[in-house]
Formats: sequence, C-alpha cells, structure tokens
Amino acid sequence: MEKVVIIGSGPAGWTAALYASRAQLAPLVLTGKQPGGLLTTTSIVENFPGFPEGVDGYELMTRMQQQAERFGAKTSFGVVESVDFSNRPFSLIVDGEKVATETVIIATGAGHKHLGVPGEHELENKGTTYCATCDGALPMFRNQALVVVGGGDSACEEASYLTRFASVVYLVHRRDSLRASKIMAERTLANPKIKPIWDSAITEVLEVKQDKVTGVKLKHLKTGVESVLDCAGVFIAIGHVPNTEVFKGQINTDENGFIVPEQGTMTNVPGVFVAGDCADHVYRQAVTAAGAGCAAAIDCERFLAAQNH
Ligand code: NAP
Repeated sequence: MEKVVIIGSGPAGWTAALYASRAQLAPLVLTGKQPGGLLTTTSIVENFPGFPEGVDGYELMTRMQQQAERFGAKTSFGVVESVDFSNRPFSLIVDGEKVATETVIIATGAGHKHLGVPGEHELENKGTTYCATCDGALPMFRNQALVVVGGGDSACEEASYLTRFASVVYLVHRRDSLRASKIMAERTLANPKIKPIWDSAITEVLEVKQDKVTGVKLKHLKTGVESVLDCAGVFIAIGHVPNTEVFKGQINTDENGFIVPEQGTMTNVPGVFVAGDCADHVYRQAVTAAGAGCAAAIDCERFLAAQNH
C-alpha cells in the first residue's frame, strides 16, 4: 500500500512530490495523459522566480520531476479511471489496476475550454487547435493568416508565438480591451503582425465540407454584422476548465467543478488534499500551483503523523 499518491504532474504535483519525498513518504506520482501538465505546452515561462532569462515550460517540468525523483518520488505514467474515497485506505483504479493508498493529493490541473461552435470539433487537428507551441510550426500554418481567440495572457502568448510562422495573426476578442497582464497586452498590441478584431465572436469554424480550416464566421457583438475572415488555422485560448470529472460525487467542488478545500489544503474527505489549478480559479500561476503543492504535502505529512500517534 502507498502512503501518498499524487494525481497529476504539473508544478503542483511535482512540488508536492518533492516535499513528500523529502519527508520520506516515497510518494507515487500518477502523471496522467499529459506528463508535466499544461506548462509543457507553453514556450518560455518568464515569471517563474529564479530564472531571470525565462525557462522553457517543458524543461522546467522535467527539472521538477528530476528533483522529486532524486529524493525518492516514484513516477507512473498512469491515468486514474475512478476513485473510491468512501473508506481508508482509499482505492484508485489506474489503467485497470487497483492502487491502495493512505492519502491522496489531487493536482490534476485544468484543461482547455472549448468555444462550442459548429466546425470547432470537426476540424480539430485540421486547423483548429488549443496549443500554439504544440502545433504552430506545422507546415499547414506557415505563411498563412491565423486566428487566435481570447483576450487573456494565453491568447497574447499564442498570438505572439504564432507571428514567427504566420503571415498575419488576427486576435479575435469578444470585448474591446484585453484581460491580459499589462506587459503582455502592450507587447501584443505593439506587434505589427498582430491585428486585433474587437467586440467579435466566432460563430462557426469553416469549412467542414473541405475537411480543413479555411476561415471563421464572425459576428460583431455591438452591431450584429456578420462576416467571414479567411484563415488557415484557429487557435483557441479562452481559458480553462478543471480536470475534476473523475472525483465527481466524492469531493466537494464549486458549481464550475473546482475542488473546494476545507481545512488548509484538505478537502471534505480527511486524507485527501488538493493543490493547483484544479482548485484555483483566481491565481492560476505555475508558482502559486507549486506553492500549493508544497502546502498540500506538508498538510499530508502532518495528517499521517497524527494518524500514527
Ligand atoms: P483567462 O485569463 O481566463 O482569459 C480567457 C479569455 O478568453 C478572456 O479574455 C475571456 O474573455 C475569453 N473568453 C472566455 N470564454 C470565452 C468564450 N466562450 N468565447 C470567447 N472568448 C472567451 O485565461 P488565460 O488567458 O488562459 O489565463 C489563465 C491564467 O493563466 C491567468 O491567470 C493568466 O495570467 C495565466 N497565464 C499566464 C501566462 C504568463 O504569464 N506567461 C501565460 C498564460 C496564462 P473576457 O475577457 O471577456 O472574459
């Protein structure tokens, strides 16, 4: 039986693993489908303390993993299919196998939010994508007009990155100002290859019949005027949804699915802790997730120590 299972391998998961392993709990980290989490799809991370020149997201996560493993964290590339938190030890089904554990730290992060318009899913990987750093360099996008949707830091980052490959990047936003941090917004709007399209929503991704993206249908939200914008790719960067589906009914969440901790990082189930973006819809930074992972591991260690007394 495991003492601690950490579900998720983003900054929260690996930091929890680092602290739990240094507490000699030999935590088992279940990486999930995307080892390293969403940060591995970012290009350069400029706001993680300690890296004055910035650090590649993938490299940062690899280093965190190595640091945790150095102290005894065990890594499994497993995906949790279901959990039973009704009794301790808890049981998890991981790729069909049962894993028993005294405690769990949930650090499952968040996934990409979808637009939900016609053509979006049909044309996924045929021009619709949720990750510029993963797909931006593909030949189909080279020297083409591309669309980025959203007004936050993610949209700005995606748009800036895509200017390396695109002939022009249209930044489609539903309001007339960006939500992004000031530095990112200013940098984005100063880029001559990025053309903002304000107060506009995408109502359809075209053209399913051609089995590839040829453009988007736009609606101006103030005038109601509809138009078509030709492009070869649509990069959707409109925020995230927490990856908490597998815990539904077992752990308290808010109405959007974010896990609600009750006492420090402990959830309503004693022995189950939470850290990172799956519980945070406010800060959502790599460094805050890492801090929460540290707190969860300390809470977990103290919980186990109290149980053993
Ligand atoms: P976000 O800040 O929540 O922004 C989402 C954007 O998408 C908003 O502009 C929102 O519009 C728009 N949006 C949401 N739903 C939409 C819909 N259905 N249709 C059209 N537009 C929609 O998300 P994010 O940009 O992914 O950032 C998440 C967090 O990660 C933030 O805390 C951010 O600071 C952080 N982050 C940081 C960096 C960095 O510092 N390097 C990079 C990426 C992300 P409204 O503005 O109208 O609400």
